Amino acid sequence: MTTAFRNPLPVPVLGFCAYSGTGKTTLLLKLIPELNRRGLKLAVVKHAHHDFDVDIPGKDSYELRKAGARQMLVASHVRWALMTEDARDSDPELPHLLNQIEADKVDIVLVEGFKKLSLPKIELHRAAHGKPFIHTQDPDILAVACCDDTQLPSDLPRLDINNVAEIADFVQQYIANWCPATPSLPLAPACGCEADMSKTLSVRQGMDAILAKVVPVSETDLAPLDELDGRVLACDAISPVDVPQQTNSAMDGFAFRFADPMPDALNIVGASFAGHGFADTLKPGEAVRIMTGAPLPAGADTVQPRELADDRGDTVSLQGKLEVGQHVRLAGEDITKGAVALGAGERIDAAATGLLASLGFDKVQVKRRPRVAVFSTGDEVSAPGEPLAPSCIYDSNRFTIKNMAKRLGCEVIDLGIIEDSEASLMAALEQGASCADVVISSGGVSVGDADYIKTALEKLGQIGFWRINMRPGRPLAFGEINRALFFGLPGNPVAVMVSFLQFVQPALRKLAGENQYQPRFIPAITDEVLRSRIGRTEFFRGIYHLGDDGQLHVKTTGAQGSGMLSSMVKGNCLIVLAEPDEQLAIGSRVYIQPFADLL
Ligand code: AMP
Ligand code: MG
Repeated sequence: MTTAFRNPLPVPVLGFCAYSGTGKTTLLLKLIPELNRRGLKLAVVKHAHHDFDVDIPGKDSYELRKAGARQMLVASHVRWALMTEDARDSDPELPHLLNQIEADKVDIVLVEGFKKLSLPKIELHRAAHGKPFIHTQDPDILAVACCDDTQLPSDLPRLDINNVAEIADFVQQYIANWCPATPSLPLAPACGCEADMSKTLSVRQGMDAILAKVVPVSETDLAPLDELDGRVLACDAISPVDVPQQTNSAMDGFAFRFADPMPDALNIVGASFAGHGFADTLKPGEAVRIMTGAPLPAGADTVQPRELADDRGDTVSLQGKLEVGQHVRLAGEDITKGAVALGAGERIDAAATGLLASLGFDKVQVKRRPRVAVFSTGDEVSAPGEPLAPSCIYDSNRFTIKNMAKRLGCEVIDLGIIEDSEASLMAALEQGASCADVVISSGGVSVGDADYIKTALEKLGQIGFWRINMRPGRPLAFGEINRALFFGLPGNPVAVMVSFLQFVQPALRKLAGENQYQPRFIPAITDEVLRSRIGRTEFFRGIYHLGDDGQLHVKTTGAQGSGMLSSMVKGNCLIVLAEPDEQLAIGSRVYIQPFADLL
């Protein structure tokens, strides 16, 4: 039996396990230099006996620690060591230890010991020692390193324990194939769509159930370049030309034919400007003045920048290092004629519009915009611009939702504020479903709310009322009304935005025909202790910045009330605390979703 383990680092962790005396350290002593030779940077974590010490009695650092310093950091200009007194009854926690490693400076962490943890491992086995295999009891073992003549009781990959290069190949392959587990998103059960409404769903389960219902729009429009922003390309854009069309110069300077050695001076026989090339073929020993972007004359293959050329009027002598083909952009080196320049399903932004223009397209087939109908519910909800009655609040949700939907390229139909009555809600839902692909409401889905939206929805369609194990944004209604999808978002303004970003956004992206619709996560380091509950996904509003250490650091915007829209304005990202996390110490790795990607 192994104990659960989650790698908190953005680099792989690989364990080595064996009975003592098998030669773990001996192997690592050979493996590490071999991996270093292959350009890999390593960290090692080793489990030791309780009474180990790395310091020596009599040294200042030892005495200062013994005097009572809980942490002692000793540093020189070549190395530093941090010793921490952390006496505990149980084994040290590997995720905590891993968080102490400078993960941006290594490609992999090798772990010796901790064999009871459910982390990927290589088993070392020597039949001569007469010990049993470990992998028969441990499903996390990926391969067994043993002697040539050992019989394995399984079909696990086998490695020769005496062949360090082979083991290094395995480690290298492991690093190449490794990808970080996405936070908070363990795989949903295979069934997906008909989620059981009676139970609480994880964020991943909710998202999978929603995405399973989304069918991308099939209709397309032919749209001119100026109207492409935020549209999704419907068919591959195949390049009708080579880009660049002609081989040309990347520098202002001189073009010539490379020879080794080069003559001391070349005769300048003309010039090539952008749009006006040099008509003749260059002969060896000749050069032309050339401008950036100007076509390379026939016969020339190399350019020397002006700064490294001694221009004497009729002749030029070249200085500095010369390499054949330098400073030359080859025809088609960016995009070759006939290649897919932009694939179907790409969302078109400024760069993509420019690329399409550069290929000569003045219009392209794009997916029709999804249509989204939006309304707010609640008798206390008032339209901005009107006087605010006592105990009422202004409607902000409709405006955040409309704005986010528009940024995703949707056409928006605003159905206004709907009073808490079954008849009005039914009318709004029917109207929305008749003219839109997606209907989004806010409010009225929490437990204990006036039942109108629930009864209205039950009468009109197949709607599930879900409890998502997340904060903020626990209640969520989702289903179908006729052919439209329906999202009933919570009422609290931050919960609305967070649930929109997690659930509605991927759905609208998929509906719009985008290939990439799964949310993206970026690792950062928390500068603040973050607390959640195991099993719940917590979304904090955060502010990230680039630290002096070159890594992204993040802290929260402060108070995190789910009604505090100002936290969404102050913040530039969501900090995502995954389901298994309960408390993350300062310096731990977290994942963030930058708003730049989302809003
Ligand atoms: P409900 O789930 O309808 O009880 O709403 C939860 C909270 O969100 C209540 O405090 C509502 O007043 C608030 N709320 C509901 N709809 C809106 C809205 N459109 N804009 C701002 N706040 C809202
Ligand atoms: Mg309400």
